[in-house]
Amino acid sequence: MSQVADVSAILSRLGLEPVNAGAWLSGPLAVSGAVVACENPATGQTLASVQLASAAEYDQVVSAAQAVFGRWRMLPAPKRGEIIREISEALRAHKADLGALVTLEVGKIASEGLGEVQESIDMADFAVGLSRQLYGLSMHSERSRHRMFEQWHPLGAVGVITAFNFPNAVWAWNALVAMACGDVVIWKPSIKAALTAVATHRICAAVLERHGFGGVLSLIIGADAEVGEAMIHDKRIPLISATGSTRMGRHVGQVVAARLGRSLLELGGNNAIIVEKDADLDLAVRGILFGAVGTAGQRCTTTRRLFLHADIAEALTQRLVNAYKQVRIGDPLDPATLMGPLIDEGAVRDYERAIESAVAQGGELLVGGSRVDRPGHFVLPTIIRARHDLPICQHETFAPILYISTYTDLADAIQWQNDVPQGLSSSIFTDSFRQVERFLSAEGSDCGIANVNIGTSGAEIGGAFGGEKETGGGREAGSDSWKAYMRRQTCTLNGSGDLPLAQGVRFDL
Ligand code: NAD
Repeated sequence: MSQVADVSAILSRLGLEPVNAGAWLSGPLAVSGAVVACENPATGQTLASVQLASAAEYDQVVSAAQAVFGRWRMLPAPKRGEIIREISEALRAHKADLGALVTLEVGKIASEGLGEVQESIDMADFAVGLSRQLYGLSMHSERSRHRMFEQWHPLGAVGVITAFNFPNAVWAWNALVAMACGDVVIWKPSIKAALTAVATHRICAAVLERHGFGGVLSLIIGADAEVGEAMIHDKRIPLISATGSTRMGRHVGQVVAARLGRSLLELGGNNAIIVEKDADLDLAVRGILFGAVGTAGQRCTTTRRLFLHADIAEALTQRLVNAYKQVRIGDPLDPATLMGPLIDEGAVRDYERAIESAVAQGGELLVGGSRVDRPGHFVLPTIIRARHDLPICQHETFAPILYISTYTDLADAIQWQNDVPQGLSSSIFTDSFRQVERFLSAEGSDCGIANVNIGTSGAEIGGAFGGEKETGGGREAGSDSWKAYMRRQTCTLNGSGDLPLAQGVRFDL
């Protein structure tokens, strides 16, 4: 009973209603779509509902976003940064409740729910600094008394499509950087994480409204076939940033490319850890456990494949099997819990099907392998001993299933690691500098992220985040990812009083 009371208090402090509108500028818009219940995946109970938006409300949102873009882009970037600093403070003030909502809505354990909001706060702080660092290069002209430089301008309205599993932070990676760059942002979240989106939007939109910039952030929650398709086909949206499955990204990328728009794709991963014979095995066990079991295997960076050197394979496998048996599964709000539920019954079915396929293809089930008999969508974390080339190991199953293979030569392990369609995150555990060098060299890992003595998941925001091949090639968050949200302009100024042409071309009458 007390948890039920806590849940309603959290929802009410975040301003959530029993039924929430699926379209927002500064405030909610009138919507008329279907009412969809948002469930707690740990209990199956309805937390609240969302009434979906239609293509008409989508149009209303885009028109408003375009109107405010005219003013937002002319506000000096450091002044935009000042407003983002207030967003950072507002997120800090609501961190506990927002983190709990992430846990309630998508089942992340409590510390991961809070960690997700912390990541958004970190992104806001990063974007504040960025607002004073949107640097362009200057070049030496080949012509006398000429000056060349690059400057960066905002793009316009950016469409941000987010996956259910990072319902707050992935929006922040995109939206806060895009805002610093002078863009306005239209967010289309996953319906599976709609309440977190509404609560996050309310908090941040209130700051903008206070400064007379309502509409710089907007939110649209609707069916993929109607609102999603309208957004990706819309020529008024110069950039679509889409995070989700490779299936979705392949479609979105093609539609946006057909209208010569830009897309920034962050798609599925199939991440591996290699453990050398000289590795610190205590570190490796902890890194593998968090990478493979954390977030119930529902991170794009989750460790899905493990390549163990033959000398340590048996001992390390045994330690992992023992550790897996001790993972505390249950109510993700309980601070003692290490693994919460999967997002829904579809995810449980995918988990069961993948295990069946792995065993049918010759894999050996070592631990786990079934759902947990309690309400909600809980499964056991699972280890399968498998040849590296089983067909199932080519796929991302969004669940806690780890395939273990054994190698004797690091060159083979690196090749096996790279030999999948995805290219997001990778790790090696070793104390050998030479093996590190092989892993990090151009013939080493082919992934967007390559870690040493750290697991595959849990990236910091300061680096550019993303992956190669079917992971989509996009980069978000830190480093110079901001360039994706701006247009580059090369400027040449002639102060010579003459008109020399480049490359010595002569064109005199
Ligand atoms: P999903 O592909 O089912 O959905 C992602 C988003 O795409 C949702 O908002 C969905 O509504 C939207 N979408 C789907 N079809 C669309 C269409 N036709 N037009 C417009 N939008 C459309 O993914 P999911 O189940 O929510 O998330 C899990 C997946 O996301 C995994 O594959 C995971 O690896 C990936 N992911 C990748 C990253 C990364 O940074 N690389 C981060 C988080 C999640």
